[in-house]
Parts: sequence; C-alpha cells; structure tokens
Amino acid sequence: MDFDVVIIGSGPGGYVCAIRCAQVGLKTAIVEKYNALGGTCLNVGCIPSKALLDSSEHFHNAKENFKEHGIDLRNLSIDLPKMIQRKRDVVSKTVDGVAFLMKKNKIQVFTGKGSFKDKNTVVVEGSDGKKQEVTTKNVIIATGSKPASLPFIKLDKERVITSTEALELQEVPKHLIVIGGGYIGLELGSVYARLGAKVTVVEYMERIAPLIDETLSKELTKVLKKLDFDIKLKHKVTSVENKGKEVIVKAEDSNGKEIEVKGDICLVSVGRRPYTEGLGLENIGIEVNKQGKIEVDDHLRTKVDNIYAIGDVIDKGPMLAHKAEEEGVYVAETIAGQKPHINYLLIPSVIYTWPEVASVGYTEEQLKEKGKKYKVGSFPFRALGRARASMDLDGLVKVLADEATDEVLGIHMIGPRAADMIAEAVVAMEYRASAEDIARMSHAHPTFTEAIKEASLAATEGRALHA
Ligand SMILES: Cc1cc2nc3c(=O)[nH]c(=O)nc-3n(C[C@H](O)[C@H](O)[C@H](O)COP(=O)(O)OP(=O)(O)OC[C@H]3O[C@@H](n4cnc5c(N)ncnc54)[C@H](O)[C@@H]3O)c2cc1C
Repeated sequence: MDFDVVIIGSGPGGYVCAIRCAQVGLKTAIVEKYNALGGTCLNVGCIPSKALLDSSEHFHNAKENFKEHGIDLRNLSIDLPKMIQRKRDVVSKTVDGVAFLMKKNKIQVFTGKGSFKDKNTVVVEGSDGKKQEVTTKNVIIATGSKPASLPFIKLDKERVITSTEALELQEVPKHLIVIGGGYIGLELGSVYARLGAKVTVVEYMERIAPLIDETLSKELTKVLKKLDFDIKLKHKVTSVENKGKEVIVKAEDSNGKEIEVKGDICLVSVGRRPYTEGLGLENIGIEVNKQGKIEVDDHLRTKVDNIYAIGDVIDKGPMLAHKAEEEGVYVAETIAGQKPHINYLLIPSVIYTWPEVASVGYTEEQLKEKGKKYKVGSFPFRALGRARASMDLDGLVKVLADEATDEVLGIHMIGPRAADMIAEAVVAMEYRASAEDIARMSHAHPTFTEAIKEASLAATEGRALHA
C-alpha cells in the first residue's frame, strides 16, 4: 500500500485528521478537489463570514455607538469591495497556513477529485482529466456539505444566491430577503443590515434559530429587530422569481394567506446538504440515507471496515467545524489503536450575531421533553458593570441545573463575546460541575464572565448578588 491513510476532503475535519494521523505515525495523504485547502470553513464559511461580521460591526458601532462614547466621526462611508478584499486576504492567509501544516507534517497533498475504485484504492482525477491511483490501508471520507435549496428555487447566483455568493457581494443590497432563519442566514443578514440594507427574514418555523433554547431565540429576535430586521415567522416560501432588477418572494402564512416581498437580492439559506457526488460510494457498497448522509457506527466507521467518515457528511452531531475537527482527531487515534472519546452533548454551538449567542448541553425544551426535573438561574448583562462600560446591555446567561444534584445540564447565553465565554461552560460541564461549583469560583471583575457566575448563583439558591 502507498499509504496508511488517505483522507478525501481538506475541510476542518479532513485537514485536522491528516495532522493527527501524521502525529501518531501514520503515512498520510489528503485529496482535495480545489487548489485551496481548508474546505467550506476556511474558504466560504466560518472564516470569511466572521471577517465580514467584524468589519460590518466596526461600521455599525462607528455609525451608531461611537457618539455615545464621546467620539465624533463624520463622513463615514463603506467601501464594500475593499471590505471583501480584506476578507479574501484573511482567507488566503488561513488557507496558506493549512498548506504549511501539511508540509510540516509530511502529509502528501493530491489535488483533484477523489473517488473509490475499491475499498483500498482511491482514484484522483485532476482538473486536466488525468487520473492517478493511490492505494491505502484506510480511507476517511471528509467531503463535507454544500448549500441546500428548495426544489422550486432557481439559484441564479446573481439575485438568488447562497451563502457563498453572499460573501462576495460588491454592493450593499437595498433590500436583502433571507429565506431561512438559521444561523447562516442570520449572520449574513446581520452583515448587510449593519451596512445599511433592509433585511427581511422569511422562516417556516415559529421562531428563528429553532434549535437553540427558546429564551435565547426570543432575545435574539428582539436584538435583530433593533437592527431593523423584519422577521416573518410561520411563513412557507412558495416561489422565488428573478424579475431582472428585483426579486419577488412569495410565501404563505399558517392560514394560507399569501404575502409578497420584493427585494434586490434573495439569500437562500435553508440548511446544507451532505456532499457525496462522484465519490464512487457504489463501488464499495456504501449507501447514503434519506438526508444524503453517510451512516457511521459509534467509532465513525462506515459499514466497510477500513473506511471511516467524519464532519458534515455523516449522520451524527451538528454540522459544525469544531465537531468535524473532534471527529478527525477521533478517527486518527482510533486507527492508531488508541481509545479516544467524543462527548456530542458538549459540542458548543454559536451564532455570531451581535450580541453573540452560544449554548452547550440540554435546552430547557429538551429537559422538559425528557421529563427531567431542573432549576433555572439567569442573569441579564444589563446588571453587569462591564457590560454597562462597553454599552453591551442586551442579553443574558441562563444556567440549567439538575433539581436534585445541582449538576449543570445546560448553559445558554446571548451577550457580548458569548462565543468565547461558552468555553467556561464546556469545561464546567466536562468536569460535571454543579451550579454551586461555578458560583463559588472567582471570576475576574469586571468581565462579562461574571454573568455566568451570577446565573449559577441564581440557579444554586436563587441568590444572584447583583440582580
Ligand atoms: C457561511 C457559513 C458560515 C459558517 N460558520 C461556521 C462557524 O462559525 N462555526 C462552525 O463551527 N461552523 C460554521 N460553518 C459550518 C462549517 O463550515 C462546516 O461545518 C465545516 O466546514 C464542515 O467541515 P468538513 O470538514 O466536514 O467539510 P467541508 O469544510 O465542507 O470540506 C469538505 C472538503 O471536501 C472537498 N471534497 C468534496 N468532495 C471531494 C472529492 N470527491 N474529492 C476531493 N475533495 C472533495 C471539498 O472541496 C471541501 O474542500 C459555516 C458554514 C457556512 C456556509
């Protein structure tokens, strides 16, 4: 065999897996169909969206909030092409970093589309049509996902676009219609709302971000409305038409009443679908399930014993970059004979609006459904000195703890830097902390993290100090 492991796909699942494979002494290759490594996350996902979120938040603050701080800025303007160029530079530096890591770890990179000839042979087809066969003891499928759409929508990629095109707009839309109130639509909607676009979100469910704890979803709705988001809940989109200079979206509410929304750009963000096209799964007897996902066992092994799958393409866990990374490490260590572990309950999730939304563990709705007896403690950021100093008054931290044992079952927050603060909750829950454990730990003052301590105090004995 040429290699111990061949990984197909170089997203956060694939490239992190490759590094860990190399670290544990496996002869490793990675196959990527694009010239740039890093997959969705680095090229058209996490990193570019955060670059634009940061830029647009600077503009928004300069326009709306600086005055309050005594900073008088005049003649503010937006140079969107420059903003997009900065984003591209951030992406290209990050992508170069992955190429460097492949070299450093002596991982062979094949550029081309990978497919299975048999369970030990991967064919790599370059863009020039040339094919090369690579033999290997193990294969890891890390081919990720692509934006999903609805069957009646024609994505022309100019007026009717996906997240990929939304990261490359050269003009701020006057009216951006977002189909789907999940995290990708809300993040990209926030970018353009902060830059001055009117944003309308059309969502089928009764609340936005329907998987997060309902308290957070409600609070998020409030803060997005402050940004002038028009949020239409319980509306089923029935047609999307590009009329040349405008796009018309029609939707029905739950009583069958039709509405029509006109805008200049329509972003379709109704989720992502696993990507397995052209992989030749039929040559190795692997089928995908109804959602197009590859099924794996508890060790992330497919039904073929030397073939594993990780990341967005599998039927396990959320479609998130850090989940894919954990799985990459898990598979590498499993192949090396180690006994790794992933706690799927403790994979945090984040929405990078401002304020940010972050959660880990069970939501209150899930605890109710399980019939678990629990206590709730919450604390608003507006009661915190640090939040007053930075003018970040919206949001709260909510701690859910077992009624009998006080063990923390879930921590949910919407507030400044929640994406970073959620790490404390993950550590606490990984060590099975009680709410009182968190409450008794000293938190630096003044910091946003004091809200976690206060919410834990509230959950312990209803004795938050500052509320
Ligand atoms: C706008 C946006 C924002 C996001 N923000 C976040 C965020 O903030 N945090 C977060 O955790 N997640 C975020 N995500 C989700 C995150 O990007 C994905 O969960 C993550 O990239 C999945 O990693 P992966 O390794 O499974 O697959 P991917 O990153 O999709 O990578 C798969 C790779 O496989 C390659 N490939 C596919 N088929 C073949 C083949 N046959 N041969 C060779 N190569 C192939 C693809 O070209 C691609 O490079 C975001 C996604 C989007 C779209």
